[in-house]
Amino acid sequence: MRLSQSLIPTLKEIPAEAQIASHRLMLRAGLVRQMASGIYAWLPAGLRVLRRIEQIVREEQDAAGVQELLMPTIQSADLWRESGRYEAYGKEMLRITDRHERELLFGPTNEEMITAIMRDAVKSYRDLPQMLYHIQWKFRDEVRPRFGVLRGREFLMKDAYSFDLDYEGALIAYKKFMLAYMRTFQRIGITAIPMRADTGQIGGDLSHEFHILAPTGESGVFYDAAFEAGDAAGETDIDAFYEKMTTIYAATDEKHDLAAWGAVPEERKREGRGIEVGQIFYFGKKYSETMGFSVIGKDGSRIFPEMGSYGIGVSRLVGAIIEARHDEAGIIWPDAVAPFRAAILNLRQGDAVTDKICDELYARLGADALYDDREERAGAKFAEADLMGHPWQIIVGPRGAAAGMVELKRRATGDRTELPVEDALAKVLG
Ligand code: ATP
Ligand code: MG
Repeated sequence: MRLSQSLIPTLKEIPAEAQIASHRLMLRAGLVRQMASGIYAWLPAGLRVLRRIEQIVREEQDAAGVQELLMPTIQSADLWRESGRYEAYGKEMLRITDRHERELLFGPTNEEMITAIMRDAVKSYRDLPQMLYHIQWKFRDEVRPRFGVLRGREFLMKDAYSFDLDYEGALIAYKKFMLAYMRTFQRIGITAIPMRADTGQIGGDLSHEFHILAPTGESGVFYDAAFEAGDAAGETDIDAFYEKMTTIYAATDEKHDLAAWGAVPEERKREGRGIEVGQIFYFGKKYSETMGFSVIGKDGSRIFPEMGSYGIGVSRLVGAIIEARHDEAGIIWPDAVAPFRAAILNLRQGDAVTDKICDELYARLGADALYDDREERAGAKFAEADLMGHPWQIIVGPRGAAAGMVELKRRATGDRTELPVEDALAKVLG
């Protein structure tokens, strides 16, 4: 994209309404704008990040054998009366009445709807197991929407659901999702730690939350430094992986167990704060029984499937990644989710030589590059590129350009090297 023709409304001033770094930076870098309390518009650069995260999440769900579908945002109240959650959910649910006085709601999650779909479509033990997911907007009327997209009211979630004939099958599904989650976060370029968690509203007795470490996180977390290696997803045997993830100590303050914590060697104890970016639940027959979803077993008996649900906060991840990866100057995007892989900074717009090199770079890098072709001071271009956090900056000034040289800056380290155009391209593309 050419910056001169793009809608990337960066701000020089620090927005007064934002209390934490990621919220300030998302506004300052022109990624989002708030349209109503806890409700955001995703501007072009922000949408590119959201889509990249969504795509990694999707690919890892697909790789784990989970099938994608798309359920609607609006649900019928009657569906939720079947499970008994219509009253229980309380004020967090946005309730809507249509022109015929029918009661609807904007879905905060989809356990009821997916159970109804399965109840209608699946009748025999032969049709199970099944795993399904969708990536869809949710609405929760949070008491205190805050921290930008970290706690919004309307937010994008990947939610998946598993259906099995017995507990053993359900546990296999649970392990598959845990592995898929660790792979997802590793590909995104962040360290997320699975922690034993409470099940809350969803119900059930086995649950893990995935936390990204950041000082502004809402949960206190305690964990063994063994998690810092971040190579868990490399494990090939799923049982060994699950065993490792669930024996190394990690818990949020709600589940902190002082006896188990005492057994962690002193030098490996880590305490900090975490942002919940995902959660997985096993809850057995809670919905299949209350909603009357059963299949006929091999021997003709009625089996109520064992279920689990598995969420990732796709839009929350955008803020959480920034919370974990920024400095004084701005965002430091991991390569995998950056809106643009590289910025091309033309330090003398209108100069025949710099223009020519920039045009060539832009033609070669295509949609992955943001070309700063504005009539601006070099200082302003540097500052904006640092703020936006592109992994690479290719700096094209008149002196170097005359000799066919450009400067390449790596945002994460600040390293700058002068090198020929082709070499710079090779590094950025490699
Ligand atoms: P929290 O405890 O932060 O309110 P939750 O436990 O109620 O979240 P889940 O039902 O587990 O949320 O939803 C799955 C994921 O959706 C969460 O792990 C989180 O990443 C994301 N999420 C939940 N609520 C919000 C929100 N208000 N804004 C943005 N993302 C959210
Ligand atoms: Mg949760």
